[in-house]
Amino acid sequence: MTNLAFDALFGRHAGSEKPFLFLDDGTVLTYAAFLARVGQFAHAITDLGLRVGDRLAVQIEKSPEALAVYGACLQTGVVFLPLNTAYTAQEMSYFVGDSGAKLILCDQRRAAALGDVVAAHGAALETLNGDNSGSFTDLANDKLATFATVDRGRDDLAAFLYTSGTTGRSKGAMLTQGNLVSNAKTLAQEWQFNPDDVLLHALPIYHTHGLFVATNVTLITGSSMRFMSRFDVDMLIDEMAQATTMMGVPTFYTRLLDAPRFSRKKAERMRLFISGSAPLLHETHIQFEALSGHKILERYGMTETNMNTSNPYVGARKAGTVGLPLPGIEVIVTDPATGAPLPQGEIGQIEVRGPNVFKGYWNMPEKTAEELRENGFFMTGDLGQIDKDGYVSIVGRDKDLIISGGFNIYPKEIEELLDKQPGVLESAVIGIPHADFGETPLALIVMEKGAILDRNAIQSNIATSLARFKHPSDVIEIASLPRNTMGKVQKKKLREEFQVKITQ
Ligand code: AMP
Repeated sequence: MTNLAFDALFGRHAGSEKPFLFLDDGTVLTYAAFLARVGQFAHAITDLGLRVGDRLAVQIEKSPEALAVYGACLQTGVVFLPLNTAYTAQEMSYFVGDSGAKLILCDQRRAAALGDVVAAHGAALETLNGDNSGSFTDLANDKLATFATVDRGRDDLAAFLYTSGTTGRSKGAMLTQGNLVSNAKTLAQEWQFNPDDVLLHALPIYHTHGLFVATNVTLITGSSMRFMSRFDVDMLIDEMAQATTMMGVPTFYTRLLDAPRFSRKKAERMRLFISGSAPLLHETHIQFEALSGHKILERYGMTETNMNTSNPYVGARKAGTVGLPLPGIEVIVTDPATGAPLPQGEIGQIEVRGPNVFKGYWNMPEKTAEELRENGFFMTGDLGQIDKDGYVSIVGRDKDLIISGGFNIYPKEIEELLDKQPGVLESAVIGIPHADFGETPLALIVMEKGAILDRNAIQSNIATSLARFKHPSDVIEIASLPRNTMGKVQKKKLREEFQVKITQ
């Protein structure tokens, strides 16, 4: 039996006494112990009735067991569906319903809130806590550590990662085994990962960055991770003496720069700092180099495509760019209106093609057709340009996406809730600069004639439906929304106006 992704990432480490994860409490988890857990989880999953192609949704804390569920899904051919731990029960209901997940794993503390949601969709619920307790663990504990791996190949589904949609509906990006393995191989090679590397991992693992980029690169190399349960700048600084590489969102780097304890000495054993998921400011790149002596390597990717471009490991790392297309991946810039390729140097929509590009959106053939061309190019929705040396720069986002601390926020979802509030005529949500998170959402509201804005009531009404990172930082009343001749709200104008007002 062969299983492309399981064999390449997990299976080959069975029995290896090499450390895989160094944990917060000082414990070291070897590959052998981790793989044994994966095998037990694979038995538990199949005993619960899941078969090839079924979806398993998880909303659990970051832990080695959460990674073991990912491995067990690959081994059994079950589609892994990780979800942000901040999602409310209402948000979870959509994901469970849309994906048709058969089994949901959650933390014991969430079980009461999710019980009804899961039952309404006819799914099963088991618990898996951050400390490795829970009903799922109980079920797995007496199982065999070895499991007969299910046959799976390049085009078979490995995972669904949900991305928020501009229309307010999240889309399940279907990622194949081939997508994951090809990208892991390429990145490990490009960034010169070797078995002695220790990666500082302080990212969440329900997102492509912490889950696929960081974890898959480590697994395919057979190296180790200092697996932190959460981001803590002091812990990160302390751990640098035992590590060699770090992957972070730009906020990690601004926090390090703000930490008085961080110095060149602390980072002296590190060989590589990588940044992605949101734009790294040119000045952050320069300041970080001046302080630590390291040039941050910035790369660019997204849920649907894994990683597309990267600054080189050897060669010029250009601040403010996301580097060169990765080997085997084509990146072009096209006219957003016509789709025609643009001459070098012009700004347009970035499109990508390669073995990294996903299979489409689950149950959304029209959406898939709108964004994935028949010739294989995926329209990223990012606006960018390519310089004469081939380096790609992202200059904006077609989709009005707000990225706060590395998390994507689509304004539409918040606007829909705001518009339903008493007295609200219409609304627009924009991203404004935030020193720590890069951006934060700001709500602009037009009230109905005679209605009085109650900011606190609006903030608390929408808070129950939205994950915390999506809560607007402020709600401001304006007389009307600026619109173009096509009736589209001109968010660019709003951003310009409020960026100035807020920084004054
Ligand atoms: P996600 O699907 O959550 O990974 O978000 C993908 C989006 O994040 C991309 O479409 C870009 O808009 C943005 N992004 C990712 N990496 C970078 C980067 N290095 N610079 C600028 N934007 C980025």
